[in-house]
Amino acid sequence: MVVGAGLSGLAAARVLERHGLAVRVLEALDRVGGRVLSATVAGAHVDLGGTFVGPDHERVTALADAVGVRRRPTYDGGDNLLRWRGDLRRYRGTIPPVGPAALVDLARVRASFGRACRAVPPGRPGDARDADRLDATSLDGWLRARRATTATRDLMAVVARTSWGCEPAEISLLHVLHHVARAGGLDRMLDTRGGAQEQHLVEGAQEVAVRVAAALRPGAVVLGSPVLRVDRGERTVTVRTDRGTTTARRAVVTVPPALRRRIRFEPPLPARHRRLAQRWAPGVLSKAYAVYDRPFWRDAGLSGMTVGDAGPVFITVDAGPVDGSRGVLLCFVGGPDARAWEVAAPGERRAGVLRSLAYLFGRRALAPLGYVDQRWAEEDWLGGGPTAVPGPGAVVPLDEALREPVGTVHWAGTETATRLAGFMDGAVSAGERAAREVVRALALEDGAGGGIGGGVGNPGRGAGSGERTTGIEPA
Ligand SMILES: Cc1cc2nc3c(=O)[nH]c(=O)nc-3n(C[C@H](O)[C@H](O)[C@H](O)COP(=O)(O)OP(=O)(O)OC[C@H]3O[C@@H](n4cnc5c(N)ncnc54)[C@H](O)[C@@H]3O)c2cc1C
Repeated sequence: MVVGAGLSGLAAARVLERHGLAVRVLEALDRVGGRVLSATVAGAHVDLGGTFVGPDHERVTALADAVGVRRRPTYDGGDNLLRWRGDLRRYRGTIPPVGPAALVDLARVRASFGRACRAVPPGRPGDARDADRLDATSLDGWLRARRATTATRDLMAVVARTSWGCEPAEISLLHVLHHVARAGGLDRMLDTRGGAQEQHLVEGAQEVAVRVAAALRPGAVVLGSPVLRVDRGERTVTVRTDRGTTTARRAVVTVPPALRRRIRFEPPLPARHRRLAQRWAPGVLSKAYAVYDRPFWRDAGLSGMTVGDAGPVFITVDAGPVDGSRGVLLCFVGGPDARAWEVAAPGERRAGVLRSLAYLFGRRALAPLGYVDQRWAEEDWLGGGPTAVPGPGAVVPLDEALREPVGTVHWAGTETATRLAGFMDGAVSAGERAAREVVRALALEDGAGGGIGGGVGNPGRGAGSGERTTGIEPA
């Protein structure tokens, strides 16, 4: 049994089926994909959630390859733009030209940040030297303690808004260091060429989820079925939705940490699991796309990549085809300037985004062929995006509860990944890891030693893998 049909849940189900187990995936929404969601706007595929993959995003690219979803490079020719202190400046590379003194300060702080990142063991933040002290402070607290200039702090705020959907004062420094270390360092996390934005998926990221779901046993994925209650038995687990109950030998719960609270666990989860669900709240980040007949900014030698200190749009990326057959501007909306935008009517939101684009790329940006936006904080069963934000003090005592099984319940979801957590890759690898845990646990239970052939998937055990279902109609 898998709870959640995001990339993590579907990757888990795929591995479990490959081991001969009958799996049911219960999904609250009427679609698969969770935090990956694609749309077609004026003939262009756009990704409203997870979008980019980097060279070391091995698990999600392997999954995309396996289901025939193609990748293409992200356009990065030409100059980037920095909107800074009311001015517009061109630049190349990762570091924006925030002024000579500010650049010296930025280099100093980045070097110190890099050293601190390398000192956090991947997958074991609690084992870092001074872990408690690093956890007790926020990213903002650390920047201030280092006397970072306002410019450096503002740039790090842009990183925090894009990466976690929060302000630097809201997130544990230890988590930031661990997250960045697991993503291969700040450059790799922020860069296009050689970095996490290097490629995106031609048919859209959600298509990976759609095809993985379609390749599962017919009826395996049940949509529109929020799991409300999970009863743990000695060797089984019974999961309830308002459409019925399913009993299986194990459950893999892949919902974001905060959403674990919406499920009633019986017997109740251990205290630190409950605290984790309270203290790892989702970030808030929205996205918008404007689609044009062609990428006119490229004519002016611009890459379409912009960073800004004013909103509502604070980052843009050219997410269109390299051949220029469509112009696609991806816009991130977040931070303090986004609060009013988030609650505005659709027409006002569109006007706000296009005003930002016109400031950056000229009046032609005001007339796109199509526009769409997605406010992730409005999503009832996702809660925000792109990943959970543990506040100061929420990592050391709670990190292990992210993935520590509780009896017959195992955990996945991108937040539980030991590498590239917060990314689509982390979602896939975490799902695969949880599935392997289940396979091992069942093999042990069945006395099958290293393999699982004999006991698991034995047709004598109810519906294929010991799963019994009452009243749930597969979608
Ligand atoms: C704006 C934005 C931009 C992003 N950009 C990138 C990017 O460029 N590159 C990248 O790699 N990653 C990016 N990400 C992150 C990436 O999308 C996520 O890490 C990944 O999709 C998470 O997958 P998941 O399966 O772990 O969780 P989810 O996708 O959240 O899946 C969990 C599923 O569980 C369901 N669910 C919740 N509660 C219940 C319940 N009680 N019962 C049943 N089902 C339930 C949810 O509906 C959901 O479908 C971005 C995310 C956002 C929001």
